[in-house]
Amino acid sequence: MNKLTFNTSLCKGCALCVDACPKKLLRLSPGSLNEKGYHPVGVTDEDACISCAFCAVMCPDCVITVAKK
Ligand code: SF4
Ligand code: SF4
Repeated sequence: MNKLTFNTSLCKGCALCVDACPKKLLRLSPGSLNEKGYHPVGVTDEDACISCAFCAVMCPDCVITVAKK
């Protein structure tokens, strides 16, 4: 099961989650745009995620769902 699920159509590219991640695993995807015209967030190394959910708590648009380990 994936630790992280992104509802990328809701992402507005604000990067609050990027700054919140203590492992620095999140980044905006420079090569893609969502329906709103923003570069949506993605994860660089999902295996390194510690499921702290800081990113999900920080996101104002409920884009990120974190599964427990
Ligand atoms: S759950 Fe924690 S470690 Fe995993 S991507 Fe979110 S902030 Fe980073
Ligand atoms: S997932 Fe949420 S906090 Fe992260 S860039 Fe998108 S809207 Fe902002």
